[in-house]
Amino acid sequence: MALTLESGARLVVATHNPGKARELAEILENRFDLVTAGELGLGEPEETESTFVGNALLKARAAADATGLVAIADDSGLSVAALDGQPGIYSARWAGPGKDFSVAMKKVEARLEEAGAEDFSAWFTSALAVAWPNGPAVVVEGRIDGTLTFPPRGDRGFGYDPIFLPEGHAETFGEMAPAQKDGMSHRARAFAKLKAALL
Ligand code: IMP
Repeated sequence: MALTLESGARLVVATHNPGKARELAEILENRFDLVTAGELGLGEPEETESTFVGNALLKARAAADATGLVAIADDSGLSVAALDGQPGIYSARWAGPGKDFSVAMKKVEARLEEAGAEDFSAWFTSALAVAWPNGPAVVVEGRIDGTLTFPPRGDRGFGYDPIFLPEGHAETFGEMAPAQKDGMSHRARAFAKLKAALL
Protein backbone atom coordinates (compact mmCIF):
# COMPACT_ATOMS: atom_id res chain seq x y z
CA MET A 1 0.00 0.00 0.00
CA ALA A 2 1.37 3.43 -0.97
CA LEU A 3 1.41 5.80 1.98
CA THR A 4 -0.04 9.00 0.58
CA LEU A 5 -2.49 11.59 1.82
CA GLU A 6 -5.05 12.85 -0.68
CA SER A 7 -5.95 16.54 -0.59
CA GLY A 8 -9.30 17.03 1.11
CA ALA A 9 -8.99 13.83 3.19
CA ARG A 10 -10.55 13.92 6.65
CA LEU A 11 -7.76 13.97 9.19
CA VAL A 12 -7.87 13.87 12.98
CA VAL A 13 -5.43 16.23 14.66
CA ALA A 14 -4.53 14.39 17.85
CA THR A 15 -4.03 17.32 20.18
CA HIS A 16 -6.02 19.05 22.90
CA ASN A 17 -3.71 22.09 22.78
CA PRO A 18 -5.48 24.90 20.85
CA GLY A 19 -2.16 26.68 20.09
CA LYS A 20 -0.75 23.56 18.45
CA ALA A 21 -4.01 22.78 16.63
CA ARG A 22 -3.99 26.29 15.10
CA GLU A 23 -0.34 25.98 14.04
CA LEU A 24 -0.86 22.52 12.57
CA ALA A 25 -3.91 23.72 10.63
CA GLU A 26 -1.87 26.58 9.19
CA ILE A 27 1.08 24.35 8.41
CA LEU A 28 -1.21 21.81 6.72
CA GLU A 29 -2.20 24.71 4.44
CA ASN A 30 -5.92 23.97 4.53
CA ARG A 31 -5.35 20.91 2.38
CA PHE A 32 -7.38 18.62 4.61
CA ASP A 33 -10.71 18.39 6.33
CA LEU A 34 -9.38 18.67 9.87
CA VAL A 35 -11.13 17.65 13.05
CA THR A 36 -9.41 17.71 16.44
CA ALA A 37 -9.33 14.92 19.01
CA GLY A 38 -10.88 17.42 21.44
CA GLU A 39 -13.84 18.04 19.10
CA LEU A 40 -14.41 14.28 18.79
CA GLY A 41 -14.36 13.92 22.58
CA LEU A 42 -11.35 11.58 22.53
CA GLY A 43 -9.33 11.25 25.73
CA GLU A 44 -5.66 12.20 25.90
CA PRO A 45 -3.50 9.07 26.04
CA GLU A 46 -0.79 8.99 28.69
CA GLU A 47 2.57 9.88 27.14
CA THR A 48 4.54 6.88 28.34
CA GLU A 49 7.39 6.86 25.82
CA SER A 50 10.83 8.36 26.48
CA THR A 51 11.28 10.23 23.17
CA PHE A 52 9.36 12.84 21.13
CA VAL A 53 9.11 10.32 18.28
CA GLY A 54 7.71 7.60 20.56
CA ASN A 55 5.08 9.89 22.07
CA ALA A 56 4.01 11.32 18.68
CA LEU A 57 3.50 7.78 17.36
CA LEU A 58 1.58 6.78 20.47
CA LYS A 59 -0.81 9.76 20.16
CA ALA A 60 -1.39 9.33 16.40
CA ARG A 61 -1.95 5.60 16.79
CA ALA A 62 -4.47 6.05 19.64
CA ALA A 63 -6.50 8.65 17.67
CA ALA A 64 -6.46 6.65 14.41
CA ASP A 65 -7.53 3.41 16.02
CA ALA A 66 -10.27 5.12 18.07
CA THR A 67 -11.79 7.00 15.11
CA GLY A 68 -11.06 4.89 12.02
CA LEU A 69 -9.59 8.06 10.45
CA VAL A 70 -6.01 8.90 9.48
CA ALA A 71 -4.54 10.82 12.43
CA ILE A 72 -1.69 13.31 12.78
CA ALA A 73 -0.02 14.02 16.11
CA ASP A 74 2.81 16.22 17.27
CA ASP A 75 4.98 15.71 20.30
CA SER A 76 7.19 18.62 20.96
CA GLY A 77 9.13 20.46 23.58
CA LEU A 78 11.95 22.71 24.61
CA SER A 79 15.40 21.29 25.34
CA VAL A 80 17.99 23.37 27.21
CA ALA A 81 21.64 22.49 26.61
CA ALA A 82 22.86 23.49 30.11
CA LEU A 83 20.07 21.38 31.67
CA ASP A 84 21.07 18.24 29.77
CA GLY A 85 18.13 18.63 27.41
CA GLN A 86 15.46 19.24 30.06
CA PRO A 87 12.52 19.85 30.14
CA GLY A 88 12.39 17.94 26.80
CA ILE A 89 9.48 15.49 26.70
CA TYR A 90 8.39 16.89 30.07
CA SER A 91 7.90 20.44 28.66
CA ALA A 92 4.13 20.43 29.17
CA ARG A 93 4.45 18.80 32.60
CA TRP A 94 6.78 21.55 33.91
CA ALA A 95 3.79 23.90 33.68
CA GLY A 96 1.98 21.88 36.35
CA PRO A 97 -1.67 20.83 36.45
CA GLY A 98 -2.77 24.45 35.82
CA LYS A 99 -0.77 24.39 32.54
CA ASP A 100 0.72 27.74 33.57
CA PHE A 101 3.76 28.42 31.42
CA SER A 102 4.85 31.43 33.46
CA VAL A 103 5.54 28.80 36.15
CA ALA A 104 7.41 26.60 33.65
CA MET A 105 9.52 29.52 32.36
CA LYS A 106 10.43 30.55 35.92
CA LYS A 107 11.44 26.97 36.63
CA VAL A 108 13.79 26.97 33.61
CA GLU A 109 15.30 30.27 34.78
CA ALA A 110 15.74 28.98 38.35
CA ARG A 111 17.39 25.75 37.16
CA LEU A 112 19.81 27.72 34.97
CA GLU A 113 20.66 29.93 37.93
CA GLU A 114 21.16 26.93 40.24
CA ALA A 115 23.46 25.37 37.66
CA GLY A 116 25.41 28.66 37.31
CA ALA A 117 24.89 28.27 33.57
CA GLU A 118 26.42 30.76 31.16
CA ASP A 119 25.33 28.96 28.04
CA PHE A 120 21.63 29.62 27.37
CA SER A 121 21.46 27.58 24.15
CA ALA A 122 18.18 25.74 23.63
CA TRP A 123 16.15 24.16 20.89
CA PHE A 124 12.59 23.17 20.13
CA THR A 125 11.88 19.74 18.69
CA SER A 126 8.71 18.56 16.99
CA ALA A 127 8.05 14.95 16.10
CA LEU A 128 5.12 14.60 13.70
CA ALA A 129 3.48 11.23 13.24
CA VAL A 130 0.76 10.14 10.83
CA ALA A 131 -1.00 6.86 11.56
CA TRP A 132 -3.53 4.96 9.47
CA PRO A 133 -6.26 3.17 11.44
CA ASN A 134 -5.04 -0.32 12.33
CA GLY A 135 -2.30 0.23 9.75
CA PRO A 136 1.16 1.70 9.29
CA ALA A 137 2.57 4.98 10.58
CA VAL A 138 5.21 7.47 9.52
CA VAL A 139 7.17 9.77 11.84
CA VAL A 140 9.60 12.64 11.22
CA GLU A 141 11.39 15.18 13.42
CA GLY A 142 12.16 18.91 13.01
CA ARG A 143 14.27 21.22 15.18
CA ILE A 144 15.01 24.92 15.58
CA ASP A 145 17.97 26.21 17.57
CA GLY A 146 18.13 29.39 19.59
CA THR A 147 18.93 31.04 22.91
CA LEU A 148 16.84 31.62 26.02
CA THR A 149 16.23 35.15 27.26
CA PHE A 150 14.77 36.37 30.57
CA PRO A 151 12.38 37.96 31.47
CA PRO A 152 9.85 36.53 28.98
CA ARG A 153 8.96 38.84 26.06
CA GLY A 154 5.77 38.97 23.99
CA ASP A 155 2.31 37.60 24.39
CA ARG A 156 1.86 35.92 21.01
CA GLY A 157 2.37 32.20 20.55
CA PHE A 158 2.12 29.77 23.46
CA GLY A 159 4.14 27.69 25.90
CA TYR A 160 7.81 28.72 26.12
CA ASP A 161 7.62 31.10 23.12
CA PRO A 162 8.30 34.30 25.19
CA ILE A 163 11.77 33.10 26.31
CA PHE A 164 12.94 31.60 23.01
CA LEU A 165 15.03 33.69 20.63
CA PRO A 166 15.49 31.74 17.39
CA GLU A 167 19.04 31.89 16.02
CA GLY A 168 19.66 35.00 13.90
CA HIS A 169 16.56 36.88 15.12
CA ALA A 170 16.06 39.72 17.61
CA GLU A 171 12.46 38.89 18.48
CA THR A 172 11.31 35.99 20.64
CA PHE A 173 8.72 33.54 19.28
CA GLY A 174 6.32 35.34 21.63
CA GLU A 175 6.92 38.67 19.88
CA MET A 176 6.97 37.47 16.26
CA ALA A 177 4.01 37.53 13.94
CA PRO A 178 2.52 34.03 13.87
CA ALA A 179 3.23 33.65 10.14
CA GLN A 180 6.92 34.39 10.74
CA LYS A 181 7.15 31.77 13.49
CA ASP A 182 5.23 29.26 11.36
CA GLY A 183 7.71 29.78 8.54
CA MET A 184 10.70 28.63 10.61
CA SER A 185 9.38 26.61 13.52
CA HIS A 186 10.33 23.07 14.50
CA ARG A 187 6.79 22.02 13.49
CA ALA A 188 7.14 23.63 10.04
CA ARG A 189 10.49 21.88 9.55
CA ALA A 190 9.02 18.54 10.57
CA PHE A 191 6.07 19.14 8.27
CA ALA A 192 8.36 19.86 5.31
CA LYS A 193 9.86 16.41 5.83
CA LEU A 194 6.43 14.82 6.14
CA LYS A 195 5.32 16.54 2.96
CA ALA A 196 8.34 15.19 1.12
CA ALA A 197 7.51 11.72 2.40
CA LEU A 198 3.73 11.63 1.92
CA LEU A 199 2.23 14.36 -0.23
P1 IMP B 1 3.18 17.95 24.24
O1 IMP B 1 3.85 17.75 22.91
O2 IMP B 1 1.71 18.18 24.08
O3 IMP B 1 3.55 16.91 25.20
O4 IMP B 1 3.67 19.33 24.86
C1 IMP B 1 4.74 20.03 24.37
C2 IMP B 1 4.95 21.29 25.17
O5 IMP B 1 6.15 21.85 24.69
C3 IMP B 1 3.89 22.35 24.93
O6 IMP B 1 2.87 22.34 25.86
C4 IMP B 1 4.73 23.62 25.07
O7 IMP B 1 4.91 23.94 26.38
C5 IMP B 1 6.07 23.22 24.55
N1 IMP B 1 6.16 23.62 23.16
C6 IMP B 1 6.10 22.83 22.07
N2 IMP B 1 6.15 23.55 20.95
C7 IMP B 1 6.23 24.83 21.34
C8 IMP B 1 6.30 26.05 20.63
O8 IMP B 1 6.25 26.14 19.40
N3 IMP B 1 6.38 27.14 21.39
C9 IMP B 1 6.41 27.13 22.74
N4 IMP B 1 6.33 26.03 23.45
C10 IMP B 1 6.25 24.88 22.76
